[in-house]
Amino acid sequence: TIGMLALDAAGNLSGACTTSGMAFKMHGRVGDSPIIGAGLYVDNEIGGATSTGVGEEVIRTVGSFLVVELMRQGYSPEAACKEAVNRIIKKKPETAKEIQVGFLALNKNGEYGSYALQKGFSYALCNSEKQDLLVKGKHIY
Ligand code: ASP
Repeated sequence: TIGMLALDAAGNLSGACTTSGMAFKMHGRVGDSPIIGAGLYVDNEIGGATSTGVGEEVIRTVGSFLVVELMRQGYSPEAACKEAVNRIIKKKPETAKEIQVGFLALNKNGEYGSYALQKGFSYALCNSEKQDLLVKGKHIY
């Protein structure tokens, strides 16, 4: 999945995502990316979030919506992503060790963060000073 989150000069948030789905997926499978609240969610009052990885686990936790709601409660983008990853671990501890799910979040103040189950999740950051800076996301395992 490629997920994008943006905050414009007027302070408005937006997001988008695109995916080819999982390898060897069942015909007709719908992943998390096209489901608002799972693979992507943006609330212009609070922030936005997007995910990558095994969509079934993201759908089960309504992951991107969860990240935004946690930010509404005062979590930083990174802490919100970490909590969403921990929910996946809580639901399926054994499965979580073997799959990848990563979340990326941006809030209304322009703060951002990410968290993933496994290493290898990184994202590109762009603003008026930093162009295409590659950031390595934190991970649990
Ligand atoms: N999240 C996607 C899906 O489950 C897979 C991906 O990360 O590309 O369909």
